[in-house]
Amino acid sequence: MGNPLRDRRSAAEWAAAGQVIEIVEKLASFEQLVSIVETDLAALDADKIPADWRDSVVAGELEFGFVDAQRRVPTVRCKVAVTVDAVCQRCLEAFRLSLESEEKLLLLAFQEAVDDYEDHEVWELEEDTLRPLEIVEELLIMAMPFSAMHVDLASCKALSAEADDREKMTKPFAALRGQMIQD
Ligand SMILES: [Zn+2]
Repeated sequence: MGNPLRDRRSAAEWAAAGQVIEIVEKLASFEQLVSIVETDLAALDADKIPADWRDSVVAGELEFGFVDAQRRVPTVRCKVAVTVDAVCQRCLEAFRLSLESEEKLLLLAFQEAVDDYEDHEVWELEEDTLRPLEIVEELLIMAMPFSAMHVDLASCKALSAEADDREKMTKPFAALRGQMIQD
């Protein structure tokens, strides 16, 4: 049995089947995402690039259906997440960056519009058929920050270096004050 993530069917077919897809897929399967991560990691010295960065696991679930009772407007409920290797733009060290996305999408043909369903985002179909993998990939790419940085401030070298500098700055005064008290 093939993996439905890679199958190509019309949005109406996915919806009519009520297809639910559990996703457990290596990053390596998502070519565009791989190329973005690879470009980012290229800023590191070769020996600092994590050897297994393509093995990060993309996990989540897609559930296709119709948004309306008349079963005219296909929709997909998406929940996807992955933790990729990235380079912190503040300290230029590698770190683990979590990406996640949760969306309800209306699968509409080019320039098609529907009223209502404002809690849904519109996903414009470029072709008559769609591969679920493309939706997962696009959502994760959109979840990427413009400038990736350590979330855990304590592990960011740039910030701990700043803290060291501040400590050095205050020390002369502390020493001076110590002297004044003695005098
Ligand atoms: Zn950092």
